[in-house]
Amino acid sequence: MFKAQEKIYHGIGASPGIAIGQVLLVKEHSTSYKKPLDATISAEQIESEIKRFEIALDNTRLELEELQKRVLNKLQAHEASIFDAHMLIVDDQMLLHEVQDTISKQLSTAECAFFKIMERYVTAISVMKDAYIKERVADIKDVASRVLSNLQETSRPVLDYLEGKRIIIAHDLTPSDTVLLDRKKVQAFAIESGSNTSHTAILARSMQIPSVVNIAGNIVDELKNDDDIIVDGFIGTIIVHPTEKTRKAYQLKAKEEGRFYIDLIRESRLRPETLDGFTVQLASNIETLEDVQTAKKFGTSGVGLFRTEYMYMGNKALPTEEEQVETFTSLIKEMNGEPVIVRTLDIGGDKYCESLSLRKEANPFLGLRAIRLCLHECQDVFRTQLRSLLRAGATGDLKIMLPMISCVEEVVQVKEIIEKLKIELAGEKLAFNRDIEVGIMIETPAAALMAEHFAKIVDFFSIGTNDLIQYTIAIDRDNERVSYLYEPSNPAILNLIKIVVDAAKKNRIWVSVCGQMAGSPKYIPLLVGMGVHELSMVPMSLGSVRRIIRKLNMHEAEVAVKKALECSNAKDALNISLELLKKIEPEVTDLAFRGL
Ligand code: PEP
Ligand code: MG
Repeated sequence: MFKAQEKIYHGIGASPGIAIGQVLLVKEHSTSYKKPLDATISAEQIESEIKRFEIALDNTRLELEELQKRVLNKLQAHEASIFDAHMLIVDDQMLLHEVQDTISKQLSTAECAFFKIMERYVTAISVMKDAYIKERVADIKDVASRVLSNLQETSRPVLDYLEGKRIIIAHDLTPSDTVLLDRKKVQAFAIESGSNTSHTAILARSMQIPSVVNIAGNIVDELKNDDDIIVDGFIGTIIVHPTEKTRKAYQLKAKEEGRFYIDLIRESRLRPETLDGFTVQLASNIETLEDVQTAKKFGTSGVGLFRTEYMYMGNKALPTEEEQVETFTSLIKEMNGEPVIVRTLDIGGDKYCESLSLRKEANPFLGLRAIRLCLHECQDVFRTQLRSLLRAGATGDLKIMLPMISCVEEVVQVKEIIEKLKIELAGEKLAFNRDIEVGIMIETPAAALMAEHFAKIVDFFSIGTNDLIQYTIAIDRDNERVSYLYEPSNPAILNLIKIVVDAAKKNRIWVSVCGQMAGSPKYIPLLVGMGVHELSMVPMSLGSVRRIIRKLNMHEAEVAVKKALECSNAKDALNISLELLKKIEPEVTDLAFRGL
C-alpha cells in the first residue's frame, strides 16, 4: 500500500508540549460562496440553530445598510441601489421559512440548510435565457457569502460534531475561537498566521494546548482530515505522516516532558527566593476559573492577572452583575486568602466581543480599546463590572486593575465612577469593599514615562510587556512579518521598565510584571535585578521561573541590569542575561532555550 512520505513544517512554538494524533482542518472564515462542512444537529439544537440563522440575517442586513450608506456618500444613488436588491434577498420571508423548515426537518446546521436552498436558486436562475436575470446569480452569491460568513462567526466549533481528539490545523484562530475550544477534544493546534505574543498563543499556554503558529508553507492546503501528525510546541515543528522511528522518538520526548513537569510540581512549595534572600512573588495569569487548578498545582502566590474579557467573549449575552459577583467570589475562595487581581474589560484590538456590537476600526490596537471603550461607548457594561468587583471585594483580597491606561485623566475618571458606585451600593444596603485597591497596567510608553504621576494616584502597577513592546517598538503583536522586532530585551523596553519600577519604589507602591516576558526564563535575571515585587505568568511557567530565581544572586542580577540598560541593542542586552544564567547552571540555560 502507498505510504505517504514524512514531511516537516516549521513555525514558532507558541505553547509547549508534544501531541501525536490526527488532523482536523478548520478552514478560515470564508467570505466566498463555498459549500460548508456537512454536519447535522440534534433535535434539542433546532431552536438555537434557527435563532443563529436569524441573527446572521440581521447582521447581514446591518452590513448592507452600512455599505449602502458608504456608497451613497461616494457614488450616485443608482449604484447604491444594488444593495436594495441584496436586501430583498435577506428580507425574503419564503427563504427564511425554507431554511427554518430544513433545519427542523433534516436536522441540518444553519449553514448547510441555507447553502442547499441558495444552490437551488442559483441553478434555477443559471439556466434562464435572459442575460439580465442570469447576471443576478452574482448578486445571490454575493449576499449568500455574507450570510455564510456571518453564520460562521457564531458557528459551533466543528469539533462538536466529531468523536475523539484531534489536532487542529487552520490558517488562523481568533482568541474567541480559541477560548471556545474544548480541551477534551483538542490535542494541539497549528496555525499559519500569528505570533507567540498574540492572545491566541497566550490562551493556548493557559489552556495547556501545545501549539505552533506562523507556519511556513501551505499546510492547510496540503493536509487532509485524519492525516497522522505530530505537533512539537517546544520548538515549533509539525511532522506530517511521521515514520515509526519519528513517532517513537516523540513518544519518548512526551514522556520526558511529563517527568519534567512532575519535578517542577514537587518543587512548588519552595520559596521563590534568591540565594541572598530576596523574595519575588510568583503569581498567575488566568483566563477562566479552570486555570486555577494548574496555578495551585505549580505553587502560585495569587492571581496577578485575571483577563475578564473571556467572560464576555463567545457568549451572546453579557454576564450579569450577579454572575460576575459569583465568578469573582468563587475565585477568591479558590485562592484561599491569596490576592486576586482582576483586570477590567480589555476588549478591542484582536479581542472581539459579539454581544457588545463594536464598530470595526482601521487600526483596532490604536483605537477605542480597553479602558477607552469602557469610559466611552460601554460605560453601563463597565459600571456593572465595577459594581460586581466592589461587591466580591467584600469577601476577600480582590484588587481592581485597569488596562491600557495612557493618561492620568482616565484613572481620575474611573476613580470617580467607583466612588459613585460605592454610594449607590451603600444605598442599596449591599456589602462591598470600601477600601478596594485600584492599580493600573503599564502598557503604553505614555504610562511608563508618566509613572511618577500615576504612582501618586494608584495602589499598584503591573507592567504589561506584551503591549508595552507593541506600542514602544511600533509592531503589531499579531503580525508575524514584524515579529523579528519583538524582543523584550530591547534596551528601550528595559529602560521603560526601570523607570516604572523606580517610580513605584520611590512612591512605596507595589510593582509587578504580567506580560509574557515575566514567564520567560531568558529575562528573569533582568526582571529580578530591576527589583520587581512580583512576576505573574501562565501557570505552566511558574516552576521554571521559581527554579531560576532560587539559583540567582540579587547582587549579580543588579549588575547585569546596569550593563543591559546601557546596551545599544536587544541582542547584547539579552546576552548579558544569558551569560548570568549560564554561570548559574547549564540546566537553567537549557530551560531558557526550551521555552519551558
Ligand atoms: C500585556 O499587554 O502584557 C498583558 C498582560 O495584557 P494582554 O496580553 O492581555 O494584552
Ligand atoms: Mg495588554
